[in-house]
Amino acid sequence: MKHNVLLCSDLDRTLLPNGAQPESPEARRLLQRLADRPELTLVYVSGRHQALLQQAIEEYDLPLPDYAIGDVGTTIYDIEDGNWRPWDSWYEEIAPDWRGKTRQDLQAWFADIDLLRLQEPEKQNDFKLSYYAPADIEPDNLLKQLRQRLDAEDVRASLIWSIDEVADTGLLDILPERATKLHAIKFLMQHKGFAHEQTVFAGDSGNDLPALTSGLQAVLVKNAREDVRDTALRQVQAAGHDGCLYLAQGDLLGMNGNYSAGVLEGLVHFLPHTLAWLQDASTERHREQ
Ligand SMILES: [Mg+2]
Repeated sequence: MKHNVLLCSDLDRTLLPNGAQPESPEARRLLQRLADRPELTLVYVSGRHQALLQQAIEEYDLPLPDYAIGDVGTTIYDIEDGNWRPWDSWYEEIAPDWRGKTRQDLQAWFADIDLLRLQEPEKQNDFKLSYYAPADIEPDNLLKQLRQRLDAEDVRASLIWSIDEVADTGLLDILPERATKLHAIKFLMQHKGFAHEQTVFAGDSGNDLPALTSGLQAVLVKNAREDVRDTALRQVQAAGHDGCLYLAQGDLLGMNGNYSAGVLEGLVHFLPHTLAWLQDASTERHREQ
């Protein structure tokens, strides 16, 4: 069905208004009504694990999605009647990168490295090995040492180093190379039959850039930081698909373009027929009042 739509969105500071900018009061209500449409398949794309995904949905009263790409892209949950089932086909897709090895195997190879402290069990899964490390180290040597051991076993992995400034700690995720948010979105498109023209991705920050600038139809919400906006623009221009990135400006149905208002604005920009879905929802709401 060509009117069917796949809407994939980051959560924190994209659909969740947990940033400094104000949220338009009706934005999440419109998102909810949109999610009720049978034509819309909704996917959340986040670094969060299942419990934290569920917590965000509850705390911010978000619609339950059809799928959630979680754990930094290592899990795709298929959600039906409130049941969250990890989608086995996705594990089959990413497992070959680790050549039959699991997190426990990799963990054993790194057991002697004193700088690394394992993160909590709920932050680990078969294809995600996550450590804390001191925030003040120069990570290059550590990463090189890990890389050598992975190479020796012919394991293809991404090593993702970041700093949690609030907790003042370094974070290290070791994942199969193919376990990215972008690849997970493309996998869903392919397996659930959504074409390029039917799919929109929304995000706000640096870790969304690969998907925002990949050539997928994508929207950067207005509350994004300026440096993210500049980098995103530069990258899509360099890749020659600037038409695929939309920067939310505000003004759709009087909303400000931040968070879910920006997501909806981008959706309407790429797929104008969805405006009628929002207008239906918005008139109905006024009638209710
Ligand atoms: Mg975000």
